[in-house]
Amino acid sequence: MIKGIAASKGYAIGKIKVMRHIEWTVDLTPAVDCEKELTELKKSVEASREQLKAIRDNTAKNIGEHEAMVFDSHMMFLDDPEFVGAMEEAIKSESKRAVAAVEQVKNFFKSMFEQMDNDYMKERAADIVDVSNRLIKNLLGLPTDNGNLEANTIIVAHDLTPSDTAQLDKTKVIGFLTDIGGTTSHSAIMARSLEICAVVGLGDITDKVTDGMVCIMDGVKGEVILSPSHSQIEEYEALAEAYRKKREDLKKYKDIKLSYKEGREILVAGNIGSVKDLDTVIENGADGIGLFRTEFVFMDRASAPTEDEQYEIYKTVAERMSGKPVVIRTLDIGGDKQIDYLEMEPEMNPFLGLRAIRLCFKYVDLFKAQIRALLRASVHGDVNVMLPMIGAVEEIKQAKAIIEECKAELRAEGIDFNEEMPVGIMIEIPAAAVAADILAEEVDFFSIGTNDLIQYTLAVDRMNSNISHLYNPMNPSVLRLIEMTIKAAHNAGIWCGMCGEMAGDLRATEVLLSMGLDEFSMSGSSILDVKEKIFTHLK
Ligand code: PEP
Ligand code: MG
Repeated sequence: MIKGIAASKGYAIGKIKVMRHIEWTVDLTPAVDCEKELTELKKSVEASREQLKAIRDNTAKNIGEHEAMVFDSHMMFLDDPEFVGAMEEAIKSESKRAVAAVEQVKNFFKSMFEQMDNDYMKERAADIVDVSNRLIKNLLGLPTDNGNLEANTIIVAHDLTPSDTAQLDKTKVIGFLTDIGGTTSHSAIMARSLEICAVVGLGDITDKVTDGMVCIMDGVKGEVILSPSHSQIEEYEALAEAYRKKREDLKKYKDIKLSYKEGREILVAGNIGSVKDLDTVIENGADGIGLFRTEFVFMDRASAPTEDEQYEIYKTVAERMSGKPVVIRTLDIGGDKQIDYLEMEPEMNPFLGLRAIRLCFKYVDLFKAQIRALLRASVHGDVNVMLPMIGAVEEIKQAKAIIEECKAELRAEGIDFNEEMPVGIMIEIPAAAVAADILAEEVDFFSIGTNDLIQYTLAVDRMNSNISHLYNPMNPSVLRLIEMTIKAAHNAGIWCGMCGEMAGDLRATEVLLSMGLDEFSMSGSSILDVKEKIFTHLK
């Protein structure tokens, strides 16, 4: 048995598929035999076409025609004489090796597409890179795909980025294991939203496994058993069944209304990163959305979403929550969430760097487009805007001035919005908790971001599995900061929620209730457990 960190609950019994990050170097020395390079290129184009056709057919069959279309566009590039022709030309007239020719043409088309005005064309840059890398891997004899995943697959990787996690096919992947990571890394948070079992921080699990190996995952205790015995499989099948039954029983708390003795209501809300996550949150009876991490709307694309695209997304979330409160956080890029098109400089300490609201003040147009979209969506439900990583009152004032500017623009354009749209802040920097009484004067609500608050208070990197034992939500310093924040909010007559992972941690529920927290917001999969805990505690 291998011990790791339980990152997303549940049990899984399946077969391992290792995802390895492949790197290559491009040989820039002149080709010795150009004819040979041309033949190699031709073979690679044919092989790529065959692979893409198989993936396309498989995707259409297992996921849907729409999802399969992306592979049609990859195949179209292979048929485009300007694309493959440019590679042949580079081999013939510049004596490039085939790999170098593909790399050169890839970079040329990538920057050409990226510079186009049209968003659709900009996104084609990612397709160009994808299909070119496939050609290169085929030329170098490297594995091109993670293969067609079978049902009941457990993915094993050194680490998974949030975008790797978002792309996991839930119909096939039942769990993932990683060498590094902690419970509040964004890939773990996404696993909980997707309701995929996850154990992270396993050290060197990638070296211990091979493709096809049978594995048991215990996402409750954070344990993994490789090549289990028959009796171990039976034991875990029984645990998985009991777990499923418990989840079924919890459904009775779905529509329960919770309140403190004096009548003040307690909301148990959901955290989402996309419209897709709404299903889990609604199925589990969320009283609202306490955190929409909008940065995921901006990731995995060649350019930022337009104001109109964003408006449609925020409007959908507001409408689907049917009048329940929806807290939408403005862009929190930085830390472990990066976007290529902003060309962010590498930083020594990205979690202490140009992140979240700080980045939005640098890219004001990007921020304004989001605020305008949020204001426009505010007429479709109970939309609340939340600013991340606030450390000082001046930042709130600066953000509010930009919001007022956007309101004035919309008024002048005759576009409808809610003049009273509430604006709140995340309390996730210790300085904000300490000065919560001052900040409370400026805003309509607080939401405590414990994932960051804990790491900044205790100087413990939330991503580092070597020090995860020090990452303690119940540390008295953390609890004091939380209590101060809730008190300051109530003294100023505003509500205070919590949207960090601690809100869904059953060990913390009672202490948070004793402090009078108004709203608990968490991954959809934890909502019913917390509702049950609050119900039984206050009964
Ligand atoms: C937090 O810091 O607690 C939080 C909710 O934000 P994120 O996890 O996205 O940093
Ligand atoms: Mg945070």
